This record gives sequence, C-alpha cells and structure tokens, in this order.
Amino acid sequence: MGRVIAVANQKGGVGKTTTAVNLAAALAEQGARVLLVDFDPQGNATTGLGVNPRDLAGSIYDAVVHETPLEDVIEATGVRNVFVAGATIDLAGAEIELVSVLSRETRLRRALEPVRGDYDYIFIDCPPSLGLLTVNALAAADEVLVPIQCEYYALEGLSQLFRNVTLVQQSLNPTLRVSHVVMTMFDARTNLSEQVVANVKEFCGDLVCETVIPRNIRLSEAPSFGQPITTFDPSSRGAIAYRDLATELRKDG
Ligand code: ADP
Ligand code: MG
Repeated sequence: MGRVIAVANQKGGVGKTTTAVNLAAALAEQGARVLLVDFDPQGNATTGLGVNPRDLAGSIYDAVVHETPLEDVIEATGVRNVFVAGATIDLAGAEIELVSVLSRETRLRRALEPVRGDYDYIFIDCPPSLGLLTVNALAAADEVLVPIQCEYYALEGLSQLFRNVTLVQQSLNPTLRVSHVVMTMFDARTNLSEQVVANVKEFCGDLVCETVIPRNIRLSEAPSFGQPITTFDPSSRGAIAYRDLATELRKDG
C-alpha cells in the first residue's frame, strides 16, 4: 500500500506545490511510482508537471464531487513514473457543493482507496486554507508534511494546523500524524533563515527534516516549463536538495 502524504500549510506561498512536485519527481527518479493529487483549485501542481488543466478529460473535482473513478482522471506526465490527478478551477466550487453531501469529509479518502495499491507514494497538494478540501486531504492521508518558509512569522498559524490535524485524528482518521516539517527557501546569506530554522526546531523538534531546501531561482523557473527541477536542471542546488529530501523520506517510511 502506498504512503499517502498530505502536503499542507494554510499559508500560501510557503512551498507546498514546489515540494509536492519536486519530491514526487525525485522519488520517481529513485525508482518509486508516484501519484500527485492536485487538490488546489489553482492547479499549479498540474501545470507544474506539464499537464494543461484545459486538456483534462476529468479532474479530481469529478472524482470527489461526482464519484468518477479516480483511475479515469489520472494522467501520465512527462516524468516517468509520476502521475497526476489534475485540478481545474471547478475544484473551487467543491467546498460549497460538498456541504450537503453525506460523508463530505471522506470523499477523497474513498476516491483514493481503489488506487492506493498502484503507487508507492501518493502526495496531496493542499490549498492554502483549512477548509473542507484540506479536511478531506487530512482524512485521506497517513502522514502530513508541512513546508515552512524561512521567513518572519514562519510559526504563525502552525499551532492551528497542528490542532486541526489532532481534530481530524480524533474524529476521522486515528492514525494520521504530522510526519515531516520541511524548511523551504532557506537563504544562507541571512541570519534570519538560521534563526527561523532554530525557532521551528524548538517548536517541532525531531519532525524537522535534516534536508533544508535552499532558495534557488531554478526552482521558481521550472514550473513555467512544465517540468520538475530534477529534469529541468538536474544539477541545480534545488534538484540536489529535493533528491536528499526524497532519500530522507524513504528512510523513515
Ligand atoms: P504554495 O504551494 O505553498 O503556495 P509554491 O510552491 O507555489 O507555494 O511557492 C510559492 C512561490 O515561491 C512560487 O513562485 C515558487 O516557484 C517559489 N518557490 C518555492 N520554493 C522555492 C525555492 N526553494 N526557491 C525559490 N523559489 C521558490
Ligand atoms: Mg500551491
């Protein structure tokens, strides 16, 4: 059974999508078969893997709202062994459409059940909120990976996220746990980055991954070419960091 990992942080712009896409690609490079579920209506993970949301026959919205089999919406990407369940802007309506639906919190979990055996890893790229989509992601996941940007206010909102994980654990998904905290956009030239990492380690302890993702311009350029960093610029610092993170993740699985 594949490990289902929700990449979550209700703050936007902290590196969720960048981490989901590049970690998926790095794990695939290391021999794993990986599915990335794009669960953000922005669809950045979808386009970041070179798939145009407009070309999709079906999307994760159809799977979650209309119970279209997930198999029917999964697409291959340009990266060997990386598959995507794409998102379109339709997904923005799902939060409202699901309100009156029975078991609305576990729609994604049910959609994933039949395909779990087909992958080694399933990543869920969460939207920047703690709404029903994120609750669905937490209800479907085994682990939560939290990217944190090395910036002021890094810890802001973190206890709220951890509290939500505990709530989902108590009501919907008893084995859910925050498994990894990943520091992103680390800038070695500033003391601030060092300070933030120290603060986060104080708060999160051993959950903080040894691998720290550097601020690397190539990481921000890759998505507009529809490629993960591992193929866009395989020898960049960003590619090396995400490979290290993949290795770290495989070890504690
Ligand atoms: P989120 O999904 O949390 O909103 P993104 O992964 O989309 O965050 O990242 C926000 C922005 O920062 C994007 O433009 C992305 O390309 C850029 N970015 C993310 N990680 C890095 C990094 N390590 N170095 C440089 N730019 C980054
Ligand atoms: Mg994102």
